[in-house]
Amino acid sequence: MIQLYIPLNFLGVIYREIKQSLADMERLFALLDQNREVADSKGATALVTQGATLAFNHVDFSYESKRQILFDVDFTIAAGTTTAVVGHSGSGKSTMSRLLFRFYDVNAGAITIDGQDVREVTQESLRAAIGIVPQDTVLFNDTIEYNIAYGKPGASKADIVSAARAASIHEFIESLPDGYATMVGERGLKLSGGEKQRVAIARTLLKDPAILVFDEATSALDSKAEQAIQAQLKEIAKNRTTLVIAHRLSTVADAQQILVLDHGRIVERGTHQSLLAERGLYAQMWERQQARQDEALASPPLELEE
Ligand code: ATP
Repeated sequence: MIQLYIPLNFLGVIYREIKQSLADMERLFALLDQNREVADSKGATALVTQGATLAFNHVDFSYESKRQILFDVDFTIAAGTTTAVVGHSGSGKSTMSRLLFRFYDVNAGAITIDGQDVREVTQESLRAAIGIVPQDTVLFNDTIEYNIAYGKPGASKADIVSAARAASIHEFIESLPDGYATMVGERGLKLSGGEKQRVAIARTLLKDPAILVFDEATSALDSKAEQAIQAQLKEIAKNRTTLVIAHRLSTVADAQQILVLDHGRIVERGTHQSLLAERGLYAQMWERQQARQDEALASPPLELEE
């Protein structure tokens, strides 16, 4: 019986290992798959940024030939400023960030950074210039230190700690029994959505990219966590060209420019104040969101924050 038990137990471990590495492989292939669409052009040169002015010039895009997703999307983000894109679910917001990374090529128009077409620069240099704080950060099954350092291979411990401090996650890490050596990911300590996002922020700070894409979480964090993330976003967006993909409107009010996307077209653009004054789609979305917040306040959730 014992003899049988040991191998079965052993097999269980192996099975979990394989399952986990398959999950990792899947992620890897998903990324590779996205990359397969495009390749470096002949004679591609490294992107050179000077402040990083980002422009979408009359961009049309479709994933499949029958269904166009973006129509004549045309805007510029001045170097060091923040532009937020808002719009209903499925309007094409995240697609814009995928095109910026050149996971796909545009069908018409061009995307440029400091005047250089993203199709003419090496993908390595393009991706090195852009930092992304995704909605759902994937953590590697490794230490929290490794997960932060991933932003900049070979970073010193002092740099890692200073990025963690700036992302307000240093104290939390220090409070764990194994500190920076704590294993996280699916096999290790599970982090909350807010903690994961802070790891992503620390990673991005370490990478120090000229361009930042912040893909706001779709699911609402509690208001305390939300305010903390917003404060940090402001901090990391300072002096960087920033594109905020806003799934709610909470992070956009301070942006220098807000683009309202509707079925793949920019239908309004301006600042929070000017768009409210326009009384168009943005104003409607804002009013609806305010009403929902008031409702939520009137009937507090069952699980109250501490
Ligand atoms: P949300 O706020 O819900 O995240 P979004 O505005 O970011 O939405 P996108 O993710 O850009 O929307 O998707 C725009 C449209 O493109 C959707 O209709 C979606 O179904 C479609 N789409 C997204 N990815 C693909 C893909 N890989 N292949 C085909 N269609 C896709």
